[in-house]
Amino acid sequence: MTTVSLTWPSGQIDNVPALWLRDNCPCEQCRIELTSEHRFIIATVDPTLTPVAVTQTDDGVVVDWGDHVSTYSQSWMDDVRAQVARCFPPMERWDADDEIRRFSFDILDTDPPTEISALDHFCRFGAIVITDTPCEPGWSETLYRRWGPPTELPFAKVHDVYVDPSGYNVAHTAEALPPHNDFASKRNRPSGQILHMLANEAEDGDSIIVDGLAIVDQLTDDERSVLTTMPAAFRQFSETTETWSRSTVLQVDESGAPVGLRYSNQLLQAIDPWHTDASAWYEAYHRLTTLIIDPANQVRFRLSAGDLLMLHGHRMLHGRTAFSPASGVRHLQDIYFDFDDVANELHRRQRLQTA
Ligand SMILES: [Zn+2]
Repeated sequence: MTTVSLTWPSGQIDNVPALWLRDNCPCEQCRIELTSEHRFIIATVDPTLTPVAVTQTDDGVVVDWGDHVSTYSQSWMDDVRAQVARCFPPMERWDADDEIRRFSFDILDTDPPTEISALDHFCRFGAIVITDTPCEPGWSETLYRRWGPPTELPFAKVHDVYVDPSGYNVAHTAEALPPHNDFASKRNRPSGQILHMLANEAEDGDSIIVDGLAIVDQLTDDERSVLTTMPAAFRQFSETTETWSRSTVLQVDESGAPVGLRYSNQLLQAIDPWHTDASAWYEAYHRLTTLIIDPANQVRFRLSAGDLLMLHGHRMLHGRTAFSPASGVRHLQDIYFDFDDVANELHRRQRLQTA
């Protein structure tokens, strides 16, 4: 493929693929200016496309393609650089002595910079607590709609968690819950979660969170490898609802960096014991579980009535210690959302703030 050399007024030189340059023509014929959407379709030119002429101007570069003329300014290239560099806020690891950051709803509600700083902390660290919220059923959805639409899932949109002998999950008992991701049993599971404590008069039942990425950092390469290649199935069901999926316990991005776990001791189904990697998988899973239940890797705190825990659903595992149901009522509500929506809303607000 032809490469085109562009010399900008600043003297900087960029060598870019010809098809890239043609595809990114910013003119009104090739783009819808208002929305910046592509109108030009790459397949309408030959893959061996080469410019007829490239001319330097005071402002940038003009490229004659024979059947079309494209004008690229230096400020256009600066925008492209910003587009290429754009990414979600980096996921910063938790240290063992980190405490959960708390933001008062009263301040967040009235002070936009505080709200931005709460969202920024959430995106970087995967968990925050919002305090001083109304203990009203369904209020978590009202809050979340500031940032995006909640995700409706099987069983319920707003999931009530209290002691319920007819419940579909161990969460509906007073038992301890080992740290886990919710809805490991859904292939398209939610990447964000809110737990809103409406009442907590019970003794014990402390909340536990675990940074899955800090855990994965402690695994060996071989352990990481088998957990990203051999799948496991998860199931959660009731008399009227079935959720099941099979996927790997560890998720990585294009570069191989871990981005989340699919871990639920409660919902794990029998893995294939005849798989050639079954023993290696179980050794890695044993190690992963040992790290997850190690209090040294856990952050523990109490959610009081009016506290709302917001989590990155794939990265952060959450659980609780056992509580005594006879000692008082404990009632929380879960809602789910797409983490990307919060990260992008943060980006939009930060851009408005600096505009
Ligand atoms: Zn054009």
